[in-house]
Amino acid sequence: MDFALNKDQKELQTAFGKVCAADIAPGAAAADAAASLQIDNLKKIARAGYFATAVPEEFGGKGEELVTLFALTESLAAACPGTAMAASTSAWLCNTAILKYGSESLKKSLLPALAAGEKLGAFALAEPGAGSDINAMAATAVKDGDSWKLDGVKGLCWNAAAADVIIVIAKTGDGADAQPALSAFAVEKGCGYTVGEQAKTLGLRAAPAANIDLSGCAVPAANLLGAEGAGWDIAMDLLDYGRLQMAALAVGVSTACFMAAKEHAEARMAFGKPIGVFQEVAFKAADIYIAADVPRLLANQACWRKQQGENCAHLIASAKLLASQKVVEAAHKCLQVFGGKGYTADAPAERLYRDARFFEIGNGTTEIMRQVICKDLLGADF
Ligand SMILES: Cc1cc2nc3c(=O)[nH]c(=O)nc-3n(C[C@H](O)[C@H](O)[C@H](O)COP(=O)(O)OP(=O)(O)OC[C@H]3O[C@@H](n4cnc5c(N)ncnc54)[C@H](O)[C@@H]3O)c2cc1C
Repeated sequence: MDFALNKDQKELQTAFGKVCAADIAPGAAAADAAASLQIDNLKKIARAGYFATAVPEEFGGKGEELVTLFALTESLAAACPGTAMAASTSAWLCNTAILKYGSESLKKSLLPALAAGEKLGAFALAEPGAGSDINAMAATAVKDGDSWKLDGVKGLCWNAAAADVIIVIAKTGDGADAQPALSAFAVEKGCGYTVGEQAKTLGLRAAPAANIDLSGCAVPAANLLGAEGAGWDIAMDLLDYGRLQMAALAVGVSTACFMAAKEHAEARMAFGKPIGVFQEVAFKAADIYIAADVPRLLANQACWRKQQGENCAHLIASAKLLASQKVVEAAHKCLQVFGGKGYTADAPAERLYRDARFFEIGNGTTEIMRQVICKDLLGADF
């Protein structure tokens, strides 16, 4: 097993990290305050090759492995978590869905523009009445000649308004064991869906999210991903990628917490000394460092196993669970290091504290992660 970054991957990470630190991080607080998608940021990271990272060269990408995409996503999240949330949804979920399940002609028509960052992707699985319980899904797709007619409402969805391609999972019939038969679609802009109001979220505000009303939406038959009825397996596979994405974002935010806490601990004076010399403060910085470093190791291993085609849902769930719990602890400690200033918008700690909380929820909650781990390790009857 070798999931260490090689020389080329490290160079890519360093170059991309410089772009993030110089061109993205300085605007993170303003992006949060604006609560809008930062198109300029997306253009900058597109130029730096972010969206192309894991797309094969034949479709205009760089053909890199998941560990590289993880490393770059981390760097972006350390700079601006909201921008990273929006961009990584496109790169980890939309790109992967089309690459793994799209027809050759769909790949040729969509992937080059997604890899170039000219198109943005989204992923709509959850619904207002079906988040953890995917089988409660109500959205439907019915075949009608050469197209599929979609109906129902998809719940909060990152990039809903800005997306050019939304990966939608919908019910296409009754399956076995009271499970609905699901199918996956690449729904392109202009197919007739409508997007609701932008949600007022606690954090990650530079990544707008909204509901999607699918009534009146018709998708060409060629935009079906995989076989009709294969949507459950596709959704589970994509959730693996989405959970690795969450882990990468969480590790990046923990890194941002470490950098912010370290800088403040070195600069802030109390009792005639920088507060970092007080062991209580220094130990917090050490804990915040570990909050990024240990989940990164686990997640890199999970990326590597997923890349090999292994069934490793429990390992991925473990990495997502650990990274998301650790980033919440890291953000809590970071805010504490800042003292009163940490409770205000004058310091990054307050924003990171709000951003961190999503990772315990998105793409499967902490509770569902534990269930995935138990089912994989203890058997289906658990
Ligand atoms: C801002 C935002 C953006 C989002 N973007 C997207 C997106 O782009 N695409 C997408 O598909 N989804 C998206 N989601 C939805 C997200 O994935 C779900 O919110 C998440 O999966 C949890 O589902 P839920 O909100 O329905 O919670 P529920 O399923 O109602 O869960 C509520 C609580 O009950 C617990 N619970 C539920 N069932 C069990 C059980 N069997 N055992 C133990 N505990 C249980 C949960 O862990 C949780 O604590 C987004 C959500 C938000 C808030």
